Formats: sequence, structure tokens, C-alpha cells
Amino acid sequence: MTAVLLTVNTGSSSIKFSLFNLYNDSSLLAEGKISGIGNNPIFSAHRTDDSATKESLPLHISHEDAIEIILDWLIKNRETAWKLAGVAHRIVHGGVKYNQPVRLTPDILDDLRTLNPLAPLHQPHNIAGVDIFMSKKPDLMQFGCFDTAFHTTHLPLFQAMALPEKFRSEGVRRYGFHGLSYNWISQCLRKEYPHLIEKRVVVAHLGNGASLCALKDGISVDTTMGMTALDGLPMGTRCGSIDPGALLYMQREFGLSPDQLEHILYEESGLKGLSGLTNDVKELENSSQPEAYFALDYFCLKTAQFIASMTVSLGGMDALIFTGGIGENSETVRKNILNRLSFMPNFETHIIPANEERCMAEEIQHYFRKELQL
Ligand code: ADP
Repeated sequence: MTAVLLTVNTGSSSIKFSLFNLYNDSSLLAEGKISGIGNNPIFSAHRTDDSATKESLPLHISHEDAIEIILDWLIKNRETAWKLAGVAHRIVHGGVKYNQPVRLTPDILDDLRTLNPLAPLHQPHNIAGVDIFMSKKPDLMQFGCFDTAFHTTHLPLFQAMALPEKFRSEGVRRYGFHGLSYNWISQCLRKEYPHLIEKRVVVAHLGNGASLCALKDGISVDTTMGMTALDGLPMGTRCGSIDPGALLYMQREFGLSPDQLEHILYEESGLKGLSGLTNDVKELENSSQPEAYFALDYFCLKTAQFIASMTVSLGGMDALIFTGGIGENSETVRKNILNRLSFMPNFETHIIPANEERCMAEEIQHYFRKELQL
């Protein structure tokens, strides 16, 4: 019987899942998602050896209903030879404590809930997903894989914010995110570009969320996201680095509450806010509106400026790797960024597809091999 692992990424309006073989090469067996929860829910899934499924769902389904639908689909499509051995959940924030995947228990979940304010748009949903799986499948092992874990190698100089000690000692510091993506890229470099592994590499993860990571010896040295996933590059709907004085001004002069400001910074800013049109890069590229071009040009300018900043952290740059939906697919964005960096000494450029799910599967595979002697 083949032991399989389900990876799950529970967000505010979507749940993505993948099924991996826990033996051998952790090959992908199936994947799918329910998107548009709360709006126009759609279920799509496919087995890698079979045709795809796509169907609209009733308008008011909850996250719990969505997980039930996914479990039903898995049971319906299960080969008699599959046995679900565990579920690995993508959890955005692991704080300072969780520097590797863990087997989740109610106590650990309570601990992770204390980090909700640090990632208000992701963490509560990630944890709700675990809660639902635990109540529906209490006998199944649940694991947490953290987006912050890969950056726990940073030196204090790269973790600090220039604030009084009493705040820093209470966790007001830089953590960094997208660690599962960078961990995967680091492993790909080791296998596919071994000449780069000891070199100075900047990875640009450009998707709806966007950040950079400075890698040396395959280890994270610096990154552009900070205490929350708002910092650094402008993103689809998030503002990226911004003058903190502007936020104080907006609060005072526009009478914004913390919740209202949070909504603007996470949901209404970035490419969407700048263009007044959409957060979708493909749509912006196809638009003839000058605001669309302006938003994309701003995104490229800031990305290039931050690449220069990562170059300082590394003392130079030997290679730049693009990944994520925009990094992998938009030649216009890549060219704009590279043009702005043409003053820099020669460096290699590569595109490596993002694969956070595979990274999670391989991490948990190690656990099973070690703990359960699979
Ligand atoms: P997420 O962070 O939600 O996983 P993705 O990594 O899927 O996001 O990236 C989504 C972004 O990639 C969108 O802005 C989308 O327009 C952009 N994108 C995807 N394909 C293309 C393409 N062919 N050309 C330009 N942009 C693209």
C-alpha cells in the first residue's frame, strides 16, 4: 500500500491541496483547489494520471464544507493502493520558535494562534484549516510547515528594526516569509546549478505576494519581508515598504481605525491601488491605460532597487533567479528589472518554477523516514 501525504494551503477565500507519494521521489499524484469561497466558489482538481474535474459549488459554502468536498473527492478518486498517512499544512508564521516542520498538537496550535496579529490575513485561516482537519480526521497526523522557518538563520543585524529594546525584546523584529519557496529554490540550485550553491544568489519570488531572498551557501542571509508580509516589494494588493510617517498621517488625517488601515494596506494597495484597475499583472500588461504601465513600472523599479539592497547584504551578486507567477511568466517584467540592473557586473539569470508544496512534501518525507522508518 502506498503511503500518501496531503499538503494543504488554507487561505481566506481558497484552499489549495496536493497529494504526494511518500515513498521514493515524493511524486505528485493529484492536486486541486477550491477558490472563490464567500463569493463564487469553484472546485477544480485532477489526478496526474487522469482527466480534470471542474465544477461550481453552492454560493454559501464554508471552509469546513470546502474541506469536506476535498476529502470526498480524495475518497472517490482514491486508488485502493493509497493510504493517507498525514496532512501537511502551510502556515505562514512560525515566530522565532518553529524553525522546521512540526507535528501539530492542540498546544502548538494555541501557541501559533498567538502569532495571528503578525499575519492577520493568513495565519488565522491557516490554523482554521488545521482545526477543521483535526476535528474531521482526529487520527490523522497533522504537520505544520512554516514560511518563516527558512529565515531563522539570519544574523541579528538582519533581524533588527531600529526601535527601542523593549519592543524588540517583545518580538518586534524582522522574520521574513516565502521560506518554503526559497527552500525549494535552494534545493533546485544544489541539484541543477551546483556551481551556484556557494555563490551569492538573489531569488526574486514575484507572485501576488512578492519578496526577495539573499542566498549564500544555499542559506538565507537576508530577505525583503519583515515582521509582517507587508514589507519590502510592492505586491498585487499590498503596499510594500512605505514611509511609516505616511501611515500615522493617514490615521490622523483620514480618521482611519487600525482595521481600516490594515484593509487598505493589505487589500487595496500595491498594483491594484496604483493602477486603480487590477492586481493581475497579465491584465495590466494587456491594458492600454497609462495607469497600468505606471503600476508595472513602479513594481519593476522597486524590485530592482531591492535587488541592489540584497546585493549589498551578500557583498555582490553572481546570479539572479526569478520564480513565482510573474517571475516565471512575464518577460516584460523581467526585462524591465534587468535593464535597471545593467550597470551591475555580470551575473547569471535563471527561471526556476516555484513549488512550495513539493518542498513541504519532501520535508515531511524526511520526518516519516526518520520517525516511522518508512
Ligand atoms: P500567488 O502569490 O497567489 O501564488 P502567483 O505566483 O500565481 O500568485 O502569481 C500570480 C501573478 O502572476 C498574477 O499577477 C498573474 O497575472 C501573473 N502571471 C501569471 N501568468 C502570467 C503571464 N503569462 N504573463 C504575465 N503575468 C502572469
